[in-house]
Amino acid sequence: MDVYKYIVLGDADVGKTSLILQWIDGTFQLKPENIDYKSRILEIGESTIKLQIADTAGQERFRTLTSSYFRETDVIMVVFDLTVAESWKNVTTWIDESTKYANDDALIFLVGNKIDLVEEEADARLVSSDDVQKYIENRGLAGYLETSAKSGKNVDELFMGLVKRLMDRDAGVAAPPPVTKTTPAKVEQVRKRRCLLF
Ligand code: GDP
Ligand code: MG
Repeated sequence: MDVYKYIVLGDADVGKTSLILQWIDGTFQLKPENIDYKSRILEIGESTIKLQIADTAGQERFRTLTSSYFRETDVIMVVFDLTVAESWKNVTTWIDESTKYANDDALIFLVGNKIDLVEEEADARLVSSDDVQKYIENRGLAGYLETSAKSGKNVDELFMGLVKRLMDRDAGVAAPPPVTKTTPAKVEQVRKRRCLLF
């Protein structure tokens, strides 16, 4: 079974624990207890995949994440709160911390959470989507989604979209060389053998 490891980083109170709980359990709480990590088994086509998601469990206040925390990480989700400018400013620090320790091929994905508050009251938005888009292009990050751990908006898209990206990445690594003219011949041979068997 393939195991994919995600870690969720960002300032305190941006909704990291809430995003994990919403995706794993479909619940939303006003004061979620921090968690170490949660796992979910996914059946996708022929593959069984275990997704292990690590929370930061309160360490965001101290910025004391160690290199072992980042080991074998496939996805680093950096979360900010769309209604708190400071949490967006700190994204750079979180990314710099991550890139010190993480594998080079880890996907770094930005998440602007609490979109429900912006949908309720447009003035609540303190981070523009355009600024974030420019930032991810400049830094070569994997992408960006605006989510709500409260309503569940884009939460499944976030976690599942990244699973698909990883599956494609791994398929690319293991894939045979690009299709050549010999490929149809091989298929033909297999068909012929099957015919003989029947
Ligand atoms: P963490 O410190 O980053 O793990 O943040 P939490 O998951 O503990 O959430 C902090 C607070 O924000 C809690 O009161 C949550 O209920 C609330 N919260 C989290 N996500 C959302 C969201 O998408 N929308 C709204 N309105 N509140 C949220
Ligand atoms: Mg938390």
